[in-house]
Amino acid sequence: MTIELKKIMLARYYGFCMGVKRAIKIAEETGNEGTQPVNVINEIVHNDAVVNRLKREGVGSVPSVDVAAPGTVIVSAHGAPPKLFDDATKRGLRVVDATCPLVIRIHRIIQKLVDNDFHIIHFGDEHHDETTGVLGQAPPDRVVLVGNLRQLQALKKNGSKYALTSQTTAGVEEFEEVSREAEKMFPGIEIFNTICNATTQRQSAVFDLAPDVELMLVVGSPSSANSTRLRDISAAICRRAYLLNNADELDESWFDGIGTVGLTAGASTPDFLVEQIIDRLVLFSGNSVEVIRPPKKNWKEALKHDEEIEQA
Ligand code: SF4
Repeated sequence: MTIELKKIMLARYYGFCMGVKRAIKIAEETGNEGTQPVNVINEIVHNDAVVNRLKREGVGSVPSVDVAAPGTVIVSAHGAPPKLFDDATKRGLRVVDATCPLVIRIHRIIQKLVDNDFHIIHFGDEHHDETTGVLGQAPPDRVVLVGNLRQLQALKKNGSKYALTSQTTAGVEEFEEVSREAEKMFPGIEIFNTICNATTQRQSAVFDLAPDVELMLVVGSPSSANSTRLRDISAAICRRAYLLNNADELDESWFDGIGTVGLTAGASTPDFLVEQIIDRLVLFSGNSVEVIRPPKKNWKEALKHDEEIEQA
């Protein structure tokens, strides 16, 4: 592959968030206890490199509690509904909970809203594990899922008190749009912006970077909600944007006539995958490419995020 890149610019915030780091650490520590078998329900985080590394270290994954071998099951960073914990206990499995504290915060908000007679509208992805866990916190007749504005507009009013919550990795702009419409449709609705700070930071970093580049590369898995969101935001701003798992998926044709590339990564993407892509691009550009990294970490912002986790 030969390309003629001049510049690679990294986003101000990219890659692992605190909740993902925490979940991986919990999985590693549980695996290191040496009591087998240990299985994560689905994926600890949505990234193949992370999941495969844990597998090599003896932490497998199973699609559901029903098929887990007797031993330990780990609930992923995305959380799970109470039924999953009950089913695991009934089967005599030990449960280790690696749910991100910011997802647990949404669970608590929903439980409180149910106790206070609210009907909840949750803005999220239908097929995401986090959504299953969040919806499971309320009786089915008290919570409804909307994935977009059209689904919100199709709702019929069936209660007097309404609240709106969001998936932690929802698009900030989409949620604002949904919130404005919900306020018109359900006057007095309580809005809870439960998008986490890590998501907001990574999205705003893409809004800042994408206008300055000709192509954006987003490193992450297609099953990662926050990574696909970063790709969608990028695609709306610059000429081309691609989501890729790793450097092996780089395609020469993407770079035809491109001088400046922007690079970011979802919250479940390890740094080494980003570095491999930089190395590969530098190599194929004949080593003449300039790599512009973000200024030193903004500790004030990072601490704000850590505090958010602590307080959740
Ligand atoms: S993206 Fe946000 S909610 Fe999800 S694990 Fe990271 S910090 Fe937690």
